[in-house]
Amino acid sequence: MAAVFTLALLGGLLGLGLAIASEVLAVEQDPRIMGVKERLPNLDCGACGYPSCEAFAEAIVTGEVKKVTLCKPGKNSNYNAIIQYLKEHPDEDGTIITLEK
Ligand code: SF4
Repeated sequence: MAAVFTLALLGGLLGLGLAIASEVLAVEQDPRIMGVKERLPNLDCGACGYPSCEAFAEAIVTGEVKKVTLCKPGKNSNYNAIIQYLKEHPDEDGTIITLEK
């Protein structure tokens, strides 16, 4: 009985530790990355040169990529939706990310 109680207590403490660590060590991600990703085809095909649509979206938001048409499966509607989204969601300092087609 003592072993069960000890294991349950240990499990609870470790779970609490993980919960606290996930809050303290969390890395804040720019919410625009998910906003751009939602407007990509989400095929994760790698044709853009990035391993996933999320990685491509992050490259767009960080300014590493300027040509949205690198996403070959994307269509004009995807490109326009991403360009419009970024116009409506500038940086904290008001800078708008501009993309080429
Ligand atoms: S080419 Fe487009 S669909 Fe394929 S991984 Fe890149 S962003 Fe995603």
